Amino acid sequence: MEALKNKILNEGTVIGSEILKVDSFLNHQIDIKLLNEIGQEFKKRFAKNEITKILTVEASGIGIACIVAQYFNNIPVVFAKKHDSTTMDNNAYEAEVFSFTKNKKYKVRTSKKYINKEDKILIIDDFLANGNAALGLIKITRQAEASIVGVGIVIEKAFQNGRECIENEGIKVESLAIIKSLIDNKVVFK
Ligand code: 5GP
Repeated sequence: MEALKNKILNEGTVIGSEILKVDSFLNHQIDIKLLNEIGQEFKKRFAKNEITKILTVEASGIGIACIVAQYFNNIPVVFAKKHDSTTMDNNAYEAEVFSFTKNKKYKVRTSKKYINKEDKILIIDDFLANGNAALGLIKITRQAEASIVGVGIVIEKAFQNGRECIENEGIKVESLAIIKSLIDNKVVFK
């Protein structure tokens, strides 16, 4: 997706050799025009699939998923919660996730009310690194016995093994920008 690649090249900053910061358009300030283009592109890539719900994880996934859902007939978006709260339903599906950027484990939870056997789920997230966040959402979907249509990622880092982990589960991955390397502060696309 050219517009996304250009935005990454013009506004992204590289931290170390593995992290890309895109706070000016995706992870802090959000470029809604670009998100609409992202929504259209995911619709194209999953045009042949029946999808009943989008599943993502808080926080950065929520904004993306909500705009993407508008291109899939306004289907509901469910986001897995990372934080304990008194309002969280105890009757929940749960998975443990290792965070690549925070270097620690956390749990993701989704109320059993909002995913069921009949659902056909599209998982959406901002980044794909080692695949842990997506695998957590896959585990939740499987606990609900719903089917997984695929995983849609805005920015994939191909030098990490997330795609392989998800494809090993027999699940299709569609990424809109695929980064080959981030060495010497330079973004190189695949
Ligand atoms: P994974 O679970 O695939 O290892 O990592 C994906 C999650 O970690 C995403 O939900 C994203 O929030 C975060 N993440 C991984 N790599 C990056 C990165 O290079 N930049 C940013 N901004 N977030 C990242």
